[in-house]
Amino acid sequence: MDKVIMLRYGELFLKGRNRSYFEGVLARNIRRALAPFECKFTRTQNRYYVEEYKFTDEYAIIERLTKVFGLHSLSVAVKVKTDFEAIYAAAIDCAPVAGTFRVSVKRADKKLPMNSMQIAVEAGARILRAKPELSVDLHEPENVVNIDIRENGYTYVFAGSVACAGGMPVGTAGKGMLLLSGGFDSPVAGWRMAKRGMQVLAVHYHSYPHTSLQAKEKVVDLAKKLTPWCGEIKLYVVGFTHIQEEIHRRCNGDFMITVMRRIMVRIAERLAKAEGCGCLITGESLGQVASQTMESITSTEDAVCDLPVFRPLIAMDKTEILEQAEHIDTYDISKQPFEDCCTVFLPRNPVIHPKLDEARSEEAKLEGEDALIQEAIDGAEVLVLGSSAD
Ligand code: ATP
Ligand code: MG
Repeated sequence: MDKVIMLRYGELFLKGRNRSYFEGVLARNIRRALAPFECKFTRTQNRYYVEEYKFTDEYAIIERLTKVFGLHSLSVAVKVKTDFEAIYAAAIDCAPVAGTFRVSVKRADKKLPMNSMQIAVEAGARILRAKPELSVDLHEPENVVNIDIRENGYTYVFAGSVACAGGMPVGTAGKGMLLLSGGFDSPVAGWRMAKRGMQVLAVHYHSYPHTSLQAKEKVVDLAKKLTPWCGEIKLYVVGFTHIQEEIHRRCNGDFMITVMRRIMVRIAERLAKAEGCGCLITGESLGQVASQTMESITSTEDAVCDLPVFRPLIAMDKTEILEQAEHIDTYDISKQPFEDCCTVFLPRNPVIHPKLDEARSEEAKLEGEDALIQEAIDGAEVLVLGSSAD
């Protein structure tokens, strides 16, 4: 009796001609997730299987696969040659020891001498004999023992399944540049876009030495946490100190954050275009803080020329966002109390409802803005996280 892990993917997006494309990208992502493990990955018509893995790796493999977007659920199954005695033995093995159950049979191999119903009845009887604490409930069983008889001469027997991440395979919906701070929100925003199939790149602005090196390390750790879901993440770490000092020197202090945000998105847009990204992504949520009023968002958006800015958290409550941060395990990193560059030179009375023309004219007070932006981009540190070498 061999154990295998059976993988299922959502069928919804698999319509028409895109089907083999989606399947191919998903298979590539699964292979990457399995790279650290010794195992065999096989595809049949609409199933994937992980076989010949070390039993001691089973938990780690499942843990990894539940983070691959596009997979819907998985089951650990016993694989046997299609032979009735072997099938019944496997069914007994898979059945729980107590509670209620029923047997469900799928029979793709129509050459067998018994039909699905007959097989289910016989398997059920044998299970009851071997595990007398069990009882049958055909309508609302606590457990279902599934017998899946395939055309290839093999049968898969399993009970129960593990939910996977759902969504679309990463790489099927283009690329996006995430503005990644050390806070709770932006990692969740990146994760949500990856769930829709987007490949995520990231940019982080730091104000060393006004902010500590640990603040930067925190963001690297956040990006690493996302890689099991997002795959490889290219992270640009951009020094923002000189720009901030110039804003501080030249602009009305109350507009500090407004102007900073405008320049952040300008830099992000340039990087995005150089990388072939089709959008920017931020962790903004309407009304959450002063810089996220409608007017603030408008004045930030105004500085982006050609790309859409996706804000997947715009209508989420902080509590919902924090729950997601817990779910993706970024919460504990985000809560570390290192300063973000936005807290440097923080004005006493930041404008909460900036007027667009004032935002523009404050930014225009900067001298040599273009050169400042270019200097920041040229000095960026580029890290590739979650690659197989990482
Ligand atoms: P977060 O929890 O993501 O930091 P926040 O509630 O602290 O969000 P803001 O500080 O107003 O909100 O930031 C809004 C968005 O601007 C962030 O979600 C992020 O996308 C971007 N951002 C802010 N600071 C930085 C930074 N230092 N580097 C890159 N992006 C940033
Ligand atoms: Mg923040």
